[in-house]
Amino acid sequence: MNFDFIQHDVNEQKAKSRYRQLVCNSTTSQGNEIVINGKSYLNFSSNDYLGLNNHVEINKALQEGADRFGVCSSSSSLVTGYHYAHQALEADICQWLNKPKCLLFSSGFAANLALFQALGKNQESHFYLDKLSNASMIDGAYHSKAKVKRFNHNNIKHLTTLLSNAVDSPNKLIASEGVFSMDGCRAKVLELAQLSKSNQAWLYLDDAHSIGVIGDEGQGSNHFADVDITMATMGKAIGTSGAFLTCTEDLHEYLINFSRHYIYSTAISPAIAWATRKSIELIQKEHWRREKITELSTLFSQLLAPEIELVSTESSIHAIIIGDEKKALAVSDTLKKQGIWLTAIRPPTVAINSSRLRVTICANHNTKDIIYLAECINKAIA
Ligand SMILES: *Cc1c(COP(=O)(O)O)cnc(C)c1O
Repeated sequence: MNFDFIQHDVNEQKAKSRYRQLVCNSTTSQGNEIVINGKSYLNFSSNDYLGLNNHVEINKALQEGADRFGVCSSSSSLVTGYHYAHQALEADICQWLNKPKCLLFSSGFAANLALFQALGKNQESHFYLDKLSNASMIDGAYHSKAKVKRFNHNNIKHLTTLLSNAVDSPNKLIASEGVFSMDGCRAKVLELAQLSKSNQAWLYLDDAHSIGVIGDEGQGSNHFADVDITMATMGKAIGTSGAFLTCTEDLHEYLINFSRHYIYSTAISPAIAWATRKSIELIQKEHWRREKITELSTLFSQLLAPEIELVSTESSIHAIIIGDEKKALAVSDTLKKQGIWLTAIRPPTVAINSSRLRVTICANHNTKDIIYLAECINKAIA
C-alpha cells in the first residue's frame, strides 16, 4: 500500500500512550471556563496568560481595524500587503522594547524558521541553542546551513565551554527561549547577554512565554538586558495572532530581501494588527494582570502537598513532573472528571520519563479556582 507508514506510525503512538487528537473547544463566554463536548471545565492549559483574549476593547479595535483596512491584507508585505496598521504596530513594538526595527510574521513558528534560515546562510554560521528550545527553533536551526551545537538547559558553563572550544567563526548566534514553555523557567538573560558580547556573538531570545508576563511593562527578556534579536508570538499573552521579531536595521533589511518565509507569505491580517496595538497598550499599563499571576502562583505552590514535584518559576507556567506518560494521562483524566482541564504533556514534547502536567495560571483565574485546583491535584497524585 502507498504510504503504509501512516497507519503503522499512528498505531505505534497509541501503543505508547502518545496518541494525540483534536478536541473541539465550543466556549463562547469570556474567562477561563472552556466547554468541550458540552461539558464545562476550568481551563488551566491556556496560554492566554494575561486574560486578554476576548477583551472588549481589543474586540472593538479589531472591528475598527476591519472597517478601516479590511480583514485580509490581500498579498505579501512586499507586494501591496503592508498596511498602515502593520507599520503602526511595528512602531509601537519598537518603542515598547526599545529596539530599532520590528518585522511581523504570520506565526512564531514561521518567524523562527525565517530567522535561523536567514542567519544560517552557510557553514560559517555557528548556532548555539539551549537543549530545551522550541521545535520551531530546532527545525529552523537544523534546516539552515549553519553548524549547530546545543548546550545543556540553562547551563552557562556548558555554553562557555562550547564557545571556547569552537573554531573561530565570524557569525555566532546564541539562542534560547526567554521563559521555557514546558517548565516555565527563565533563561539567564543577563549572563547570556554578557557571554554573547564577550564572544562577539548575537543573542536571540524566543519570548513566546515572556512577552506580556515578564518585566515591569511586560516587555519580556529585554527588561533584563539588551537582547540583539527578540521574537514573540502574539498568540499567547498578547491575545491576538501572528508574531513579531525585533532586530537591527541591517537585519531587518536583510530579512525583507532574503527571508522566504517573509517574502512568499501573505502579510498578517491588518485588522488583527490594529487589535494588537490595543492589546499592547493594555499590557503596558495594566500592571495588575502581572501582579495577579504572581499572587495566584505563590498561593498555588503553598497549597500543593509537599511531596509533589513542582518546578518553581516567576512565570505563568508551572510544571508538575509525573515521569511516566501513562500516569500523567491518568492524573489528567482524573482532573477532567472533576471539571479541570489540564493537558498531560508527553514525549516527544518533553524528554522521556519527564511527562508532566503543565499548569498555566492566568490573570483571569481567581483564588477560589486555585484552591480547588490544588485540592484536586493533591488528591489525584497522592
Ligand atoms: C508557541 C511557541 C512558538 C510558536 O508561535 P506561534 O505563533 O504559535 O506559531 C514559538 N516558540 C515558542 C517557544 C512557543 O512556545
